[in-house]
Amino acid sequence: MMDLTRSLLHLPMCLRYQAEHTTRSIRIVSKMKTYSIALIPGDGIGPAVTEAAWQVVEAVARGADFTVHATRLPWSCDHYLETGAMMPEDGVEILRGRDAILLGAVGWPRKVPDSISLHGLLLPIRKAFRQYANIRPHRLLPGVEGPLRKSEFDILCVRENTEGEYSGAGGRVHQGTEDEVAVETAIFTRKGVERILRFGFEQARRRRGKLASVTKSNAQRHSMVFWDEVTHELAREYSDVEVTSYHIDAMAARMVMAPETLDVVVASNLFGDVLTDLGAAIQGGLGFAASANLNPDRSTLSMFEPVHGSAPDIAHLGIANPIAAIWSASMMLDHLGETDAAARIMQAIEAITARGMGTVPGEHKTDDITRAVLTALH
Ligand code: ATP
Repeated sequence: MMDLTRSLLHLPMCLRYQAEHTTRSIRIVSKMKTYSIALIPGDGIGPAVTEAAWQVVEAVARGADFTVHATRLPWSCDHYLETGAMMPEDGVEILRGRDAILLGAVGWPRKVPDSISLHGLLLPIRKAFRQYANIRPHRLLPGVEGPLRKSEFDILCVRENTEGEYSGAGGRVHQGTEDEVAVETAIFTRKGVERILRFGFEQARRRRGKLASVTKSNAQRHSMVFWDEVTHELAREYSDVEVTSYHIDAMAARMVMAPETLDVVVASNLFGDVLTDLGAAIQGGLGFAASANLNPDRSTLSMFEPVHGSAPDIAHLGIANPIAAIWSASMMLDHLGETDAAARIMQAIEAITARGMGTVPGEHKTDDITRAVLTALH
C-alpha cells in the first residue's frame, strides 16, 4: 500500500493525483488540473509582453495545484505576408478545445492595413467563440501617478464585443468616383444587447452595486433608444443595482472629472472602445491596461490581452511595459477559477509598482520588470 502511494506521488506533474490513504484502499480524491493555453504573441511588442506574462503564469502555477501548457501560434502580420492570411483557414478549430487564449498585440499598419489584421484574426476569434463581453479594469496601481492626480477610482468597463458598430455589415459603391458611397451598419440585436447589459448588472452586483449604461440616445434614435429601453427593462430585475444612463459625451467628461463616482460602465462596441482608451489614460497609460474577451457562459474559450497595440515605435527596444499583459494573465487565471493564483499575481504587480518599478514609461526594461514580478511572487 505504501509503495503504491509513493509511486502515485511520483508520477509526472500533469498526471499527479493526491491520494488519500485509508486502511483498505487508496482513493483518488482530486486530479491536478492542466490548462492548455493558446499563446498568440502577434506583432511588435506583443511577443515580448506575452513571454513575460507566460513566465509569470508558469511561476505561479509551480506553487499551486495546477499546471499550464502553452501552444505558441505564430499568427501575426508577418504570418500574413508569408501566407496571405492572418491565421490558417482552420485557425478557429486549432483554438477550440484549449482552455484560454493569451494574446500579445496584433497589427503592424506599415506592413498590413489594420482593417486586414483586425478582421483576419481578432474579430473572427471574438465572434467564433462568442466572446461578447470585453472587460477592462481601470484603477491606479500603487505608485502609479495618473494624469488626474486622483488615486481613488476603480472602474470596470464592460464593452459589447461582437456586434454594434463593429458588426462589419456595410459596403462601398462607386469607389474612387465623386459619387462614392460608404455604408457601415451598426447592428443591435435584442439578444446581444440584453446579454451584455445583464453581464454588466451581474458585475455591478459583485462589486459596488452601481451600473452606468452609456448611449447617445438623444442623437441615435433607433439603436440607442432601444439600448436604453432594454436597460430599463432589466433594471426591474436588478432592483439592488443603482442604474444611471449617460450619453457618451457626458461619460467621457465624468471619467476625467469624477471617475470615483463610477463602478461598472457598460457600453456598445464603439463607445466602449473609445471610453476604455480614456480609462487606460487615466490609469497611467496603455502599459497598465488589461483586458479580457469573455464568453461569460463558459460554453467556449475566452481570450485575454493587454489593451495596447503592437507599439511599433518601441518594438524591439526591450522597454515595453509587460504589466498590462501580466495583469491580463491574472484575469485569465481568475476566469479559469484559479482565483488564488490570480490574486497572487496582482499582489506581486502591486508590490513592485508600489516601489516605483515599471511606473515611469521607458525607465525600466521589460525583462527587469518581469524579473521583479517573479521575485515578488516568491
Ligand atoms: P492600436 O491601433 O492597435 O491601438 P496604436 O499604435 O494606436 O495601436 P499602441 O500600439 O498601443 O497604439 O501604442 C500607443 C502608444 O503607447 C505608443 O507610443 C506606444 O509606444 C505606447 N505603448 C503602448 N503599449 C505600451 C507598453 N506596453 N509599454 C510602453 N509603452 C506602450
